[in-house]
Amino acid sequence: MTEAWRPDGEDERRGASGPVKVRVPAKVNLHLGVGPLRRDGYHELNTVYHAISIYDELTARRGDTLALTMEGEGTGELALDDTNLVIRAAHALAGYAGVLPHARLHLRKQIPLAGGLAGGSADAAAALVACDALWGTGLSRDELAGIAADLGSDVPFLIYGGTALGTGRGEAVSPVLVRPTSWHWVVAIADGGLSTPAAYRELDRLRDAGTAGAPLGSTDALLGALRQRDPRVLARTLGNDLQDAALAMRPALADTLKAGEGAGALAGIVSGSGPTCVFLAADAADAERIAGELTTAGVCREARVARGPVAGARVG
Ligand code: C5P
Repeated sequence: MTEAWRPDGEDERRGASGPVKVRVPAKVNLHLGVGPLRRDGYHELNTVYHAISIYDELTARRGDTLALTMEGEGTGELALDDTNLVIRAAHALAGYAGVLPHARLHLRKQIPLAGGLAGGSADAAAALVACDALWGTGLSRDELAGIAADLGSDVPFLIYGGTALGTGRGEAVSPVLVRPTSWHWVVAIADGGLSTPAAYRELDRLRDAGTAGAPLGSTDALLGALRQRDPRVLARTLGNDLQDAALAMRPALADTLKAGEGAGALAGIVSGSGPTCVFLAADAADAERIAGELTTAGVCREARVARGPVAGARVG
């Protein structure tokens, strides 16, 4: 076994001496097809991930221990100890690369907690990319995605970003080749979060009771729409099998979806396990207008505009 490389030791040859800043986006699922519950407690997924321009930022500096501080969304609610995905990601990378997990990490959060936008997974992806640069471990994106898969089903996608197919429990990611189009989204953030495991359990319950909607089929129509530039075509193909579960747990989301569509959104869906709702707008100006109307209607805590696809976790 090789001796652990010490970032702060005299033999300091690798890695960044100054702070490393990584920006990581939120994700939405343009198609979230949920299959049956597997024996390992996960559901088989057939999903299309899409990274949007709402970002968390993680800064990594050299330190004598591993420490995490934060500001922004969720400050005071999110534990900053060993249960935090950022800390778990740093430990996972250090273990894989055989280095000491020493870093001072600071997280600036704009992605809401438990919002269905993969905020926690995004932060784990950011930690892998930031610590890789800080420690000079020089792993490839595919290697980082391999470590990411053990941290959470959405984490590998956030290493890559863009638009990608997710299979397995969501961790098997392959990029979707799309035209270089920017889609315009309105993101309606709710008060409070929803638990992802609870949403999956609720879907199982609705399916057992025979009251869940018909499961989504293949992603072909969506992938075809992504190759065109017409948001009206894309709007018809968006879908989320977890939406019924999120609506059962948070009935007020039906008002949010209705308000967005009433304001002229081409389509609205619950993002992932919710409670965030995302709306496709015809263009940037329309997105701004819809966000304004949603805020005035009081059907969400905050409405933000975003575009996608954007890159995954990146230094700089
Ligand atoms: O992978 P991750 O830790 O993000 O998943 C959180 C929870 O969401 C899992 O423990 C499981 O209850 C549920 N889940 C699922 N099927 C998936 C992904 C997540 O049932 N494909």
